[in-house]
Amino acid sequence: MTDMHPILLLVDEQQLVHKGVRKMLAEAPEIEIHDCYEGAKAVAAAEHLGPTVILQDINMPDINGLDLLAEYRRHPAIADVPVIMLSGTSAAEVKAEAFQRGADDYIVKMPHPIELIARLRHHSRAYVEHLEREDAIKALQREKKKLAAANLELERLSSLDGLTGIANRRYFDTVFDREWRRAMRETEPLSLIMCDVDYFKLYNDSYGHQPGDECLKLVASSLASAMQRPTDLVARYGGEEFVVLLPNTHARGAIKIAERVRQAVLDLQLPHENSAVHDCVTISMGAATVAPMIKHQIGELLLSADRALYSAKEAGRNQVICAGI
Ligand code: GH3
Ligand code: MG
Ligand code: MG
Repeated sequence: MTDMHPILLLVDEQQLVHKGVRKMLAEAPEIEIHDCYEGAKAVAAAEHLGPTVILQDINMPDINGLDLLAEYRRHPAIADVPVIMLSGTSAAEVKAEAFQRGADDYIVKMPHPIELIARLRHHSRAYVEHLEREDAIKALQREKKKLAAANLELERLSSLDGLTGIANRRYFDTVFDREWRRAMRETEPLSLIMCDVDYFKLYNDSYGHQPGDECLKLVASSLASAMQRPTDLVARYGGEEFVVLLPNTHARGAIKIAERVRQAVLDLQLPHENSAVHDCVTISMGAATVAPMIKHQIGELLLSADRALYSAKEAGRNQVICAGI
């Protein structure tokens, strides 16, 4: 765009002025001249043409040149096009008013051709550079938007577990911390359920690692679909262990959810012929609830749930054990 040549719109009702200007610009053939003989048609002509500079009579019979200037300035497509006022008077007050009302330059009729060419070239170049800057800014804004969307997607992906597609440990840690502090602030109970697939090593040994992966995916989805509130969170804690975070939930509610989760996994009816507890895949769970207070550590809730899970395993698996902290 930098090599864009000047496109001049000359607005003047006098044929003579048009002729004179054309003659003066003979030395600058790169300037493309367009004529407009009526002030009332100037805005439409400029909109249609897209000039890089407007040279316009300040005093026209059908319209006041300064009012016309105001019209350009109000028009979004023409607002920034440089306008040079062409005037018969060199009165300082008139010049001052023209500049005050948005003119970019002021020339007293008739100027020296060299001066006219220099001014037209200067204003045209400045306008083209202005357009280029605007384009560059718009392109930059588009890139920024794209980057923000990509970052958002990256953020989303980095919070998901690659195998199961549910939340990962990293995301769980963040939410757990936030919910812990909220529960403390609002003196509400917070429940946590640790879940572990029973005899999963045997499952892998019996069916292979790949079917083991498929099994984990199915268990993860059944856990996720057993949740009821949007604030409940299921995450893969690691390996064949999952964790369920239940904000604002009492122990009784947590046991109910855990039972539902246990049932949901049973309902998958995934054969596990070498399991010592059932002929299908089962999970054991440890639930813990606390209304966090200053004296509590966030790790205590995890530890309690983990201990309860161990007890559930000890007690024969495929069951829920609940603990306080
Ligand atoms: P328990 O009932 O006591 O929990 O017995 P377990 O066999 O489930 O427990 P253990 O901790 O001995 O073994 C867990 C197994 O889970 C070991 C590992 O091979 C398997 N495992 C962990 N992560 C994955 C995974 O991403 N994919 C597959 N296929 N297996 C996994
Ligand atoms: Mg385990
Ligand atoms: Mg296990």
